[in-house]
Amino acid sequence: MPIYEYYCKSCEKKFEMLILGTEKPVCPECNTPEVKRLMSACGFLSRGAGGETVSSSAGASSCGGCASSSCSGCGS
Ligand SMILES: [Zn+2]
Repeated sequence: MPIYEYYCKSCEKKFEMLILGTEKPVCPECNTPEVKRLMSACGFLSRGAGGETVSSSAGASSCGGCASSSCSGCGS
């Protein structure tokens, strides 16, 4: 389940929200739809990949030479 982190432009709060389908996020504090989605790839990957993807906790240093999330592209 995709849980995204958002930043409210109006009250400057950060919050996480589970988004289903085309549901639009609104700020739980001030109820404005003026929110920006933040990229929290680490949390998303560790939650969503059942062990196939290199986890951020254990394998981050195994591919320090590239910014890719897997080592298939850099040949190391
Ligand atoms: Zn707000």
